[in-house]
Amino acid sequence: MTAQDKYAVFGNPIKHSKSPAIHAAFAEQCDQHIQYRAVRVEQGDFQRAAASFFAGGGKGLNVTLPFKQDAFAFADTVSDRARRAGAVNTLTACADGSIAGDTTDGIGLVRDMVANLGWQLQGRRIALLGAGGAVRGVLEPLLREHPKSVVIVNRTAARAAELAELFADLGAVQGGGYELLEELEVDLLINATSAGLQGEMPALPDTLLTVRSCCYDMLYGPEPTLFMRWAAQNAAWAVADGLGMLVEQAAESFYRWRQVRPATRPVINQMRNAMAAA
Ligand code: NAP
Repeated sequence: MTAQDKYAVFGNPIKHSKSPAIHAAFAEQCDQHIQYRAVRVEQGDFQRAAASFFAGGGKGLNVTLPFKQDAFAFADTVSDRARRAGAVNTLTACADGSIAGDTTDGIGLVRDMVANLGWQLQGRRIALLGAGGAVRGVLEPLLREHPKSVVIVNRTAARAAELAELFADLGAVQGGGYELLEELEVDLLINATSAGLQGEMPALPDTLLTVRSCCYDMLYGPEPTLFMRWAAQNAAWAVADGLGMLVEQAAESFYRWRQVRPATRPVINQMRNAMAAA
């Protein structure tokens, strides 16, 4: 191990990435001497940039939009969960020179909901809004918690139906358009659409939540998101944003690279305070 092992996150855009601050906090807390940079990679240049990073002694990469599928193709080996998700957000240089790919988003989400928020998933009726990369990445870890049922709804219904079919061997999972939510009650509603980025949210029936329902938005920001405000107005029992998921997926990457597990709660608080002050 060198004095400062090199790590980075590749994405585009990357300017607002919180990963360097999160990993710096982990490194300080765990007394690890690492360098972690955010690198903007041009579309079509991922393979070259990643090969050059590892050839230059890089130890590990996080990969964010729009390169998670390129990272999957780049890895020499991938974990089972990454193979099923068809996406990789963590690349690790192995001792034999090969590059291993994994996806830690799903573990991050489950850990935030179960360990940090104290929400139970087992036996619960879950609905997921959206059928993009985020949903694909979290379905396996979610289904492994043995919920009673998972319904995926999406603006483009066929994408949700396709995902449901792909994960059907892991539990009771159904996919389709938003009409699947009519006359449904759920215990956990997860927003994994990017609608909030455009200041929008899908129309949802006001019969969807019960007094015990939890609502989770993968999006996060200094203010409650539109989805979180809808959940509060509809008397959700608990509401959370995705900052904890972000920190937890980073912690899992850090653990893979350094074999040390950082305490996440102080880092979530630190990031929350930094967002509020910005
Ligand atoms: P993505 O692959 O681009 O998928 C976007 C999804 O949102 C699609 O299902 C799309 O539906 C849907 N959508 C977009 N605009 C919509 C609208 N106006 N109304 C209804 N549905 C709409 O993105 P992703 O990677 O899955 O990410 C989804 C969200 O999760 C993003 O906000 C991202 O920031 C967040 N995220 C957070 C974390 C975290 O650590 N907290 C990690 C990963 C992702 P169509 O299929 O019909 O286009």
